[in-house]
Amino acid sequence: MKNEMTKIAWAHFTFNLWHGCVKVDPACKNCYAETMSRRWKRDIWGVDKPRLFQKPTYYDSLQKWQADAEKKNVAYRVFTMSMGDLFEIHRDPAINAQMEERRQWYWEQIEQTPNLVHMLLTKRPENIVKLAPDKWKFGAGEYANYPDNVWLGTSIGTNDKVDRLLDLFLPTFAGGYFVSMEPLIEKPNKDLWVTMLQTALPTGSTKVALIAGGESGAGARRCDLQWLYDARDIAWAAGIYFFMKQTGSVLAKEMGLKHNKGEDITEWPIDLRVQNLPEYRLNGEAMQWGDK
Ligand code: SF4
Repeated sequence: MKNEMTKIAWAHFTFNLWHGCVKVDPACKNCYAETMSRRWKRDIWGVDKPRLFQKPTYYDSLQKWQADAEKKNVAYRVFTMSMGDLFEIHRDPAINAQMEERRQWYWEQIEQTPNLVHMLLTKRPENIVKLAPDKWKFGAGEYANYPDNVWLGTSIGTNDKVDRLLDLFLPTFAGGYFVSMEPLIEKPNKDLWVTMLQTALPTGSTKVALIAGGESGAGARRCDLQWLYDARDIAWAAGIYFFMKQTGSVLAKEMGLKHNKGEDITEWPIDLRVQNLPEYRLNGEAMQWGDK
């Protein structure tokens, strides 16, 4: 089990229905998943390229993690998907049909794995309402109940993409939400962010986190320490949780940190050592998170 766990601080596991994607904004420039795929000689990036679907045995992972979590009476956070985008719509109808088939299977799995919090991260939140299953929408049109163990998330690395928040929060009753400011590649406009968060947040929502981090990997762009403080201040001004993930590799080097991506919380300034996420309740009980 240990060796299947992710090093990503905010999740226990990563789960991928397929590999492959298309770049949609400047934050995608150094996409880690694309770099890895090219290293593995897989030509799966681009509008006309195929997607690589997992072997059938891979899909058993969710049930295995669920059984383990249930036995320990804990919950695990699952990051879906790190090697593509769950809410991508492929131009090729045949490939798209395969993606849709996986998604339909996955929606059922989510309901059968209540000890797993499925963190669905996308740069295409405008497709969430279109692609989520109809049964989650019943009762109040497009805006009704998603399962409590679904946390919807979007990545926003630049100010011109802040309006993604409007699409993210459109399904008003997801179990939780997270906004990933990673890679943070420019100074966040605090007024814009706070105003947009306050406008877009569903009324009474207490289950929202903002995650911030600088870029790492080949060609990583610099993240300024002040931008990370700005991200923290944005979260606090908007009344949501803040989770500091990493400084990114350029800043880590400048600061002389031992961890090359700046992921070690003990190396950060004291007032940036904040890693809070919403709680998860199952059958009314506040769940402990499993060990990492
Ligand atoms: S959306 Fe995500 S997976 Fe797709 S290219 Fe951009 S960073 Fe990579």
